Amino acid sequence: MRLSLFVTAALFAGLAGWLYAHMNRFVSPSPFDVRASIEYLLMAVAGGLGQLAGALVGAALVLKNGLQDVLPMLTQRAGQLEAVAFAALFILLLHFARGGVMGLLRRWTRRRGGAQGVSRHDAPPVDPLPHRKLPTRGTQVLSVNGAVKRFGGLVAVNDVSFDVKAGEIVGLIGPNGAGKSTMFNLLTCTLPMSAGQVRFLDHDIAGMPQRQVARLGLARTFQHVKLRPHMSLLDNVALGAHSRTRSGILKAGLRLDRTEENQILQEAQRQLDRIGLGDRAHELAGSLPLGTQRILEIARALAADPVLLVLDEPAAGLRRKEKMALGDLLRKLREEGVTILIVEHDMDFVMKLVDRLVVMNFGSKLVEGVPSAVRADERVQAAYLGSVV
Ligand code: ADP
Ligand code: MG
Repeated sequence: MRLSLFVTAALFAGLAGWLYAHMNRFVSPSPFDVRASIEYLLMAVAGGLGQLAGALVGAALVLKNGLQDVLPMLTQRAGQLEAVAFAALFILLLHFARGGVMGLLRRWTRRRGGAQGVSRHDAPPVDPLPHRKLPTRGTQVLSVNGAVKRFGGLVAVNDVSFDVKAGEIVGLIGPNGAGKSTMFNLLTCTLPMSAGQVRFLDHDIAGMPQRQVARLGLARTFQHVKLRPHMSLLDNVALGAHSRTRSGILKAGLRLDRTEENQILQEAQRQLDRIGLGDRAHELAGSLPLGTQRILEIARALAADPVLLVLDEPAAGLRRKEKMALGDLLRKLREEGVTILIVEHDMDFVMKLVDRLVVMNFGSKLVEGVPSAVRADERVQAAYLGSVV
């Protein structure tokens, strides 16, 4: 997606160059010197990065360049001072208004809007996005077979195999550095495997690109939160529904897909309501505490309508009450037929939640079984408390 956007931007720049040459009948390097680059940068920063209106406002401000009118009134040597004044303005802007003029304006309107309590996405209702048919309870959803991952000399995951069946919550536990996150990265194809197979539904997914795996119905969250902090909660969650849409980049870019866009936003709002953040849809994701950002990632994963939900330490950084709410949400998902694979350190939380546990230690699978059996297992106790032999 980024590559397509980059190419599109380059295309526009090329078009502008062509128009410029057409107008002047002559092209020399001098209009494209360092100063021009600085001006473009200034336009973007002054207007507000990442906002359409920001680009327009910034370009208007810089091109109009009020300094050329104002400075001569103040001093004789206006030409020399212009660069200094520009620099000073730039510094002030970066210091006091990182988001540029539009950022300031937005913050101001949000504050007023927030006071009036309009922080939901309330467009007229549209047909919901189609749902995937979930596999029947008990059929095999995921099967990991002899997974190996080597980082140079370090074997982070060593010949691990396990299965996950539809409608189960399976916990993956083990001490720090046991290889749990690496295992998750292997089975979601975030990292390539050194050896082994992963079967998801009816597909061999090892080596598949991540986006294709996501499209099959495998959604995940990350141990280190990966959100877009400068986008709203609603937009962050809407990103998750990307794989369920049909309009391509051209149709979406020209805004010919309003119905689908509304469907996505409605779905995003539904997922936000589900995790209890529905009334904060238009706040920025970066303004949330870290624990809540994790929960937001779950909503984004749910927006993809997953068959299997893979969660890496979702309860880390949550308070007791929030943890209980998360537990309730996950149980409700299980009732709906979603399969869940979870890494979590809070033993109390995991033991009460999961149907089955897989324990890893030093990259290998140590034990597999129901929570009570795992809790009683001596090898597991030794792994957690240090060897007592
Ligand atoms: P866990 O999630 O169980 O705490 P990880 O899967 O994050 O453990 O890490 C397992 C081991 O692999 C650790 O020793 C870690 O240092 C190592 N490791 C993880 N990712 C990388 C990487 N990208 N490069 C090198 N070593 C890594
Ligand atoms: Mg980890």
